Amino acid sequence: SEFSDIDLGEIIQSNIKNSTYARPTPVQKYALPIIRLKRDLMACAQTGSGKTAAFLLPILSQIYENGPGKIPEVMSEPGTQSRYARRKHFPLGLVLAPTRELASQIYDEARKFSYRSHVRPCVVYGGADVGGQMRELDRGCHLLVATPGRLVDMMERGKIGLDQIKWVVLDEADRMLDMGFEPQIRRIVEQDTMPKTGERQMLMFSATFPKEIQILARDFLDNYIFLAV
Ligand code: AMP
Repeated sequence: SEFSDIDLGEIIQSNIKNSTYARPTPVQKYALPIIRLKRDLMACAQTGSGKTAAFLLPILSQIYENGPGKIPEVMSEPGTQSRYARRKHFPLGLVLAPTRELASQIYDEARKFSYRSHVRPCVVYGGADVGGQMRELDRGCHLLVATPGRLVDMMERGKIGLDQIKWVVLDEADRMLDMGFEPQIRRIVEQDTMPKTGERQMLMFSATFPKEIQILARDFLDNYIFLAV
């Protein structure tokens, strides 16, 4: 099978052609159609399998297909929040990753595939200046890649709202749990304003499938497909 057999839209197809990706890896071949069918997914896939493009391509193509529209954001109530929070952003897609390195890699790949489209990816992670990341968000954000702690911080500052989320990806979920991020992940996914099961699509990627990941999958995913590559 070829990327050109998959309906991803003209711009994304041309961005794939301009990349070094000749044909889909196994996780891409199997996960892409499942994601496009809007099913929740638990995928066991290692780093190096091509899992990043497996979740980015179908999400970016669906955001792209929705058309330019207005980038979701609102002006906050004046005087109620910090000076950074003048504009609150409502991303359509959210990718949570354990480390700033992984978040940056996912962001770079998202940028590559959304090149020359209206789709704007953004990234936020801890250990870096909040102000700079806020200014980047103010240029618009359809797809947010984030480490869990920094996202909770941005939500508390009134900078990010989850009300419009259609896709949530937990990447390297086992590593996020190993690093102690479960409280932050639950805080994010179980937020009052986060669309519930059935109104959002949730994708979990993990190298391993221990008890704790099975519990997270049971709690977060709806009638999910299990894929091991
Ligand atoms: P990942 O498992 O997503 O971290 O990807 C591992 C590496 O494989 C990254 O450097 C990707 O750029 C690359 N890659 C992903 N998909 C493909 C593909 N279909 N063909 C060639 N390289 C790929």
